Amino acid sequence: MPPHGGKPTSSCGLFVPQFLRPFSYPIAPKEMLQTLRFHLTRVSSNVKTGPIPVSTSSKATCPATCPFMKNGCYAASGPLAIHWQAITKGDRGTPLADFLQAIRSLPAGQLWRHNQAGDLPHSGGRISRRFIRGIVAANRGRRGFTYTHHDLSKGENLPLLRFANRNGFRVNVSTESEAAADRAIAAGLPAVIAVPSTETRKTWHTPAGNAVLVCPAQRSDTKTCANCQLCENRGRRVVIAFLAHGTGKKKANAAIAAAS
Ligand code: SF4
Repeated sequence: MPPHGGKPTSSCGLFVPQFLRPFSYPIAPKEMLQTLRFHLTRVSSNVKTGPIPVSTSSKATCPATCPFMKNGCYAASGPLAIHWQAITKGDRGTPLADFLQAIRSLPAGQLWRHNQAGDLPHSGGRISRRFIRGIVAANRGRRGFTYTHHDLSKGENLPLLRFANRNGFRVNVSTESEAAADRAIAAGLPAVIAVPSTETRKTWHTPAGNAVLVCPAQRSDTKTCANCQLCENRGRRVVIAFLAHGTGKKKANAAIAAAS
């Protein structure tokens, strides 16, 4: 494959489409994925998501680069924390293969949220190629969306996230500053931003001119992911903002202030 620009070709000189091209680094060990557990709630009772399928992944999927790890993570308290801990311990949830089968069994066109808690499986901060390939394939024909705090500059994280987004699995890059959100959009990825709980604006623009819109479910009692769907499908230059919330919001506010 040429380093930049030129069209990649097979050994016989034929053009190879993006989704068929191999990635240029070793896949994450199968053993690493086998230690993880994934859980799918088919009809969420969460008032924010509404009644859509929602998944949860073992805590080991979270990257060390997440500024909210043990520092204001909204999933670290309440009923979600208990559920997440049970999955992390292996008392609930399934291995990856069974989880992907559950995704494949969702109805065509189904909106679903991956990871109400957890992130994308990785090895030392490098997102698992095996996982991305698997979930993109399982999600085909469905409308999965998620968020990630993985470092875009690490390993092949950036091309993997581009691959997922171009092939129908929406991975929003989680940021804590407008500059980082602008960088993610410039890199061709959808971005979301965490903002202080005290933010009063509903919409504004970043320095690069991208529009910021506060999550409708945080502004209205009738909006849910089920009827909003912006995290799965919106304009390329629209950043969704999430107000720090939950019992850890003081810490989250401090983490946001440190990142801004
Ligand atoms: S912007 Fe819409 S889809 Fe995204 S979290 Fe908020 S309600 Fe859900």
